[in-house]
Amino acid sequence: LSDRLEAVLGGLKSRGKLTEEQVDATLREIRLALLEADVNFKVVKTFVARVRERAVGTEVSGALNPGQQVTKIVHEELVRILGEQSAPLDLGSASPAVIMLAGLQGSGKTTAAGKLAAQLKKKGRTPLLAACDLQRPAAVDQLKVLGERAGVAVHAPEAGGDPSADPVAVARSSIDEARRLGAGVVIVDTAGRTNVDDAMMQQASDIREAVEPAETLFVIDAMIGQEAVTVAKAFQEAVDFTGVILSKLDGDARGGAALSVAEVTGRPIKFASVGEKLEEFEAFHPDRMAGRILGMGDVMTLIEKAEEAYTAEQAADLETKLSEDSFTLEDFLEQFQQIRKMGPLQNVLGMLPGVGKQLEDADVDESQLKRVEAIIQSMTRHERHRPDVLNARRKRRIAAGSGRTVQEVNELLKSYEQMRKMMKQMAGGRGGQEQALKQL
Ligand code: GDP
Ligand code: MG
Repeated sequence: LSDRLEAVLGGLKSRGKLTEEQVDATLREIRLALLEADVNFKVVKTFVARVRERAVGTEVSGALNPGQQVTKIVHEELVRILGEQSAPLDLGSASPAVIMLAGLQGSGKTTAAGKLAAQLKKKGRTPLLAACDLQRPAAVDQLKVLGERAGVAVHAPEAGGDPSADPVAVARSSIDEARRLGAGVVIVDTAGRTNVDDAMMQQASDIREAVEPAETLFVIDAMIGQEAVTVAKAFQEAVDFTGVILSKLDGDARGGAALSVAEVTGRPIKFASVGEKLEEFEAFHPDRMAGRILGMGDVMTLIEKAEEAYTAEQAADLETKLSEDSFTLEDFLEQFQQIRKMGPLQNVLGMLPGVGKQLEDADVDESQLKRVEAIIQSMTRHERHRPDVLNARRKRRIAAGSGRTVQEVNELLKSYEQMRKMMKQMAGGRGGQEQALKQL
């Protein structure tokens, strides 16, 4: 994590809306972090612009400083692009279901084919591996070795790769072979070249048409860097893949390719290949990846901790007030403002012993909040602390000052009084809490 980014994140807490300067100061560092992770520079540009638009003017939560707030938005946006959740395989209903792998040579297709086979077998399926990379004889042997290790049958042309054999025909015959063997899934390994070229793309596209895969997975090396965009686009055009396998994620690469590919293709990354062994294969985790790309997994933890600590602090504060019976109209207002900002009244109350889920669904009407705010803001400090001094004259003044009616002022005082009583009961132990909740 760069010192400069750390400096941005170490700033003072502040309230109010994020200014352009605050947002830009953090985004300058984020931009560098993304480029360092080898995210494609064009992707960095659109990404940063999008975050900027979203961030400027948003409210800083009391728990964070502006740098942390912007970073949180960046992280959320990254996770959104990388996929909210890890996307599982979707094998459809056809039998056998076909999974086809495509990608550059050396990207990790054959390895991933073996890993997928092993994983499916562990899940009780019967996969068949189809060797459709006939470019190099060694490729067929490599798949056979992996198949043997995984305990999965391999369908290949006769005797170690006849150079005249047709990969499309092999793919097609693997379907019949699967039926004969009673295999429910066929995993088709294909050839790649070191560079995108027309012949390879045509072959991949032909195989795809021949076997109509339920899933076509594009395998890409996490270390590919800037080129990720061109390569991913070319494969998307040729085979219109349904998902991505990010390979060699066990290396040093920060994995900016993940963001590049997800952003330009809109396809979910389904798996991460994290080693040469069969079992070094896992579901892709967008939030972990977001932290890795930013080079700041620990920063996100810190931000979460800051938020938790703040919420705990508020809960403790509230609890003290309850037990001292000093819950004033100012506190009441603050709680309402909190709700308007991000809804933590529920969180805060939820942290009090014995109060939980019941409050999570409580709906809050926005216009009502504005009314409450206006009325309380029209009171003097003394009145907020000692609402019993509010006589008819004062109420008329407050009503006029806030543009509301005296009746509305009375209603607010009534709900404040109810909330105060309720909180007093809550502070009075379990029985009190239950009673209070019944009144809600
Ligand atoms: P293909 O040409 O796309 O079929 O790529 P291969 O599956 O043959 O993989 C190319 C090389 O990368 C091989 O030496 C693999 O052992 C290695 N490899 C593949 N996936 C991974 C991975 O996730 N981590 C590491 N460290 N090596 C991998
Ligand atoms: Mg291969």
